[in-house]
Amino acid sequence: MLRFYNTLTGKKEEFVPMDGKTVRMYSCGPTVYNYAHIGNLRTYVFMDLIRRTLKFEGYKLKGVMNITDVGHLMADSDDGEDKMAVAAREQKLSPWEIAEKYTKVFFEDLKKLNIGVPEIIAKATDHIPEMIKYVQALQDAGFSYETSDGIYFDIAKFPRYGCLSGANLDDQLAGARVEVNDEKHHPADFALWKKADPRHIMQWDSPWGRGYPGWHIECSAMSKKYLGECFDIHSGGVDHIPIHHENEIAQNEAITGKQSVRFWMHGEFMLVDGGKMSKSLGNTYTVSDLEAKGYAPLDFRFFCLNTHYRKKLNFTFEGLSAAKTSRARLMNQLGEHKASNAATTPEKLEAFRASFRNAIEDDMNVPLALGVLFTAIKEPKSKDIYELAKEFDCIFGLDLQKAEAVKAEEESLFVPEEITALCEKRKAAKKDKNYALADELRAEIAAKGYAVTDTPQGYKVNKLN
Ligand code: AMP
Ligand code: ZN
Repeated sequence: MLRFYNTLTGKKEEFVPMDGKTVRMYSCGPTVYNYAHIGNLRTYVFMDLIRRTLKFEGYKLKGVMNITDVGHLMADSDDGEDKMAVAAREQKLSPWEIAEKYTKVFFEDLKKLNIGVPEIIAKATDHIPEMIKYVQALQDAGFSYETSDGIYFDIAKFPRYGCLSGANLDDQLAGARVEVNDEKHHPADFALWKKADPRHIMQWDSPWGRGYPGWHIECSAMSKKYLGECFDIHSGGVDHIPIHHENEIAQNEAITGKQSVRFWMHGEFMLVDGGKMSKSLGNTYTVSDLEAKGYAPLDFRFFCLNTHYRKKLNFTFEGLSAAKTSRARLMNQLGEHKASNAATTPEKLEAFRASFRNAIEDDMNVPLALGVLFTAIKEPKSKDIYELAKEFDCIFGLDLQKAEAVKAEEESLFVPEEITALCEKRKAAKKDKNYALADELRAEIAAKGYAVTDTPQGYKVNKLN
């Protein structure tokens, strides 16, 4: 039985799609004003894991992801400039060129990380009429009001505001900063439509003059268009819970009065060196940055998979290096299984399959599922284990089918430094014709689980089985 943690109820709940077959899922996509950093990408790996889990359970998918190419202001609370406009000015490009440039790289990054692309990709600027219609409907129903700079959602008219984050409106009022816009009735009221001054490049005609949509209305308008008024899953990063997703709920449910999303699922944040990622600290790494430092994109994916999606993940280069070594070992050992003609008993394989399924069905416990794989590869070498790993890879997405045993001369790559040091000592002892010491060292190496043999090309180390 598949269970997902639902932010809305704070519990793990059994998941079955509304129609029993096809899961309708919306995922908040990127704001394409910059390269996606590894934190953003962790959230898309999480989205990918949801998609893979649902397919593993035999469901069909109708996934929608938006591309925000207008309306996301520097602060989520409607302050500051549009992120697209700022990037355009800094890079001396038009906002459309900025969007095109970063959208392209975003999809290249997804591909490198084996992240599946949702069935429908919806660009905000292609859906302006739908958004205007949505805002008009909220206006007509009395859920919003006009100010000199836009149309705002009136949260006082939606008593359930705060249901996702459990935030209390009075607390929000008390904690609110001095408002820039004193025409707002409540500091948490948010813009559905912003009136644009003539210098603003991205603007459209509307019943309220020329302007551009608020960021939150994009997701409501596009999810309704493609998935309807009520759908199965909405995913995003935890930072979106208190503002963006509360606002989506208010917009979605004000008029219909119906619950719009059954499961709200949120991926925890990635930290870097224990702290926040920020441009000023120079720690907002991209996939290309990691590649330039000698890591494969799948090293990063593997690194992400080792921590449950609801736990914070602290990125360090030591951690990524450990992931790289561990993945290389895994591929090597699987390669050895692949090369073997021996078999594993069906009972044993079934037991591994059952443990794997239990882990995945328990709110996507991928670290535990990886543990099952690591236990399986300790079995005597057999092609069945390689085939089993390929089955499991429908969730992991680590290209396990490409596993090859590395050649003997490359095997030193996987020998611990301590053993290499002993081998070097032995080599020096032999050179000095101190054969007694060389033999002692060979015994010490064997005691630590490795066999050293001499070949015309030099010594060779193998792990003792
Ligand atoms: P944005 O492009 O800013 O809208 O963000 C894209 C996605 O990345 C959103 O779902 C965010 O919740 C998520 N995100 C942003 N920063 C991080 C982080 N440090 N760790 C994990 N996810 C993040
Ligand atoms: Zn969104």
